[in-house]
Formats: sequence, structure tokens, C-alpha cells
Amino acid sequence: MDREKAKAAQAEVCKTALEMYRSGLVAGTWGNISARIDDTYMAITPSGMDYEGLSADQMCIVNMDTLEYEGNLKPSIEAIVHAAIFKNRPEVNGIMHTHSTYALTVATARKEIPSICEDQVQILGGSIRVAEYAIPGTKEMAEACVKALEGRQGALIANHGAISCDVTLAKAFIGSQIIEKAAMVYINSMAIGGPVPISQEDVDFFADFFRNKYGQK
Ligand code: 13P
Ligand code: ZN
Repeated sequence: MDREKAKAAQAEVCKTALEMYRSGLVAGTWGNISARIDDTYMAITPSGMDYEGLSADQMCIVNMDTLEYEGNLKPSIEAIVHAAIFKNRPEVNGIMHTHSTYALTVATARKEIPSICEDQVQILGGSIRVAEYAIPGTKEMAEACVKALEGRQGALIANHGAISCDVTLAKAFIGSQIIEKAAMVYINSMAIGGPVPISQEDVDFFADFFRNKYGQK
């Protein structure tokens, strides 16, 4: 393992974890964040520790094949989920798991959010599926999340929360915010007759446009 890369990943995870906490997407010690170091290792938040006061060297370095970890701090119980996503999605370098309120509301109803908002479609790739219910920290939950995320950058987790992944951890953080916003819009729109989804043709156009043409060169 390249130790400089590992240190950079730990620093990024630590910084983003505090930003996630301060953004209100999680309360207490819930949620977790990771960044890929290479094909075998990831840096991930330690389990059950307050976000305020975390230091970069406390971010756990975990072997994604064996789930063995360095140091004394236990990694997030969801390390198995993060490892499965990194292993199945070579383009993914950052993952964020939250328990944000509106996402969790829709996740308790176990309803897929259709492709209803432009930013949702562009950033997350389309509808937001619900990963089947499974006990946290299990192989079953890992498999359910990988399946729900297929071709997407975000998913809900039944009765639990949300998960986002992207080419950078910064983008995954935006993904978590967009999941929360889409869930809020979805719930609100139900009060005025329900949302009208964007057509699949336009979903495909937006996804391509955003990934390849949006913004500055
Ligand atoms: P950890 O503190 O172990 O990351 O667990 C929080 C959580 O959200 C479990 O799903
Ligand atoms: Zn959780």
C-alpha cells in the first residue's frame, strides 16, 4: 500500500465526516464514510465515535478482501458494505452512508423515488431504488446495497437510511444531499397529486450531458 495515498484518504474521510455531521445528514455517531486507497484497501470512519474531535489518523485502514484492519479502533460496522461497493464498482472512490430524515421517511415506506428532479437524474443516474431490508453490517445488507446501486450513484436502504457513491468522496457527499432533497420533493409532491416522472429518454440525455458536457472544461 502507498502510505502517502493512505494518509490522503484518511484526511479526506475525516474532513468529510465532520462536514457530513455539520450538514445535519446524520445525528450522533450514525452514518459512515469511506475513500478508496487502492484495489485492496480503503479508509473508513471508526465505529460509534463522535464526529467532532475525530483526527485523520483515527480513520481505519481496512483490507477490503479480508476486512482485517490496522490499529486499535474498530472500523464502522458497515465496512463490509463499503468494501462490497468498492469491489463491484471500480470507478467509485468515495462512499457516504447517512440516516437523513426525508430519505429515511421514504425508506421506511420502501418506495422507489422515480426520476423526478433534474439534479437527481444527473447526479444519481435516475430513480432512487430501495435496498431490501437486512441487518446492518451483514453480507446480506452489502449485497442489497450493491444491487440497489447498480447503474446509480445513490440508493435508499429499507428502514435504515441512504447510501451514495461516486468517483470522488466530495461528489458522493453531494449525492447524499441530492438524495435527501429528492426524498423531500417526492414527499411534498404527494400532497399535490404526486410527481410526474421525467421520461427515460430525457433521463438518459441528462445523465450523459451531466457526466460529459456540463460545467467548465
Ligand atoms: P458505525 O458507527 O459503526 O459506522 O455505525 C453507524 C451506522 O450508521 C450503522 O448503519
Ligand atoms: Zn446506518
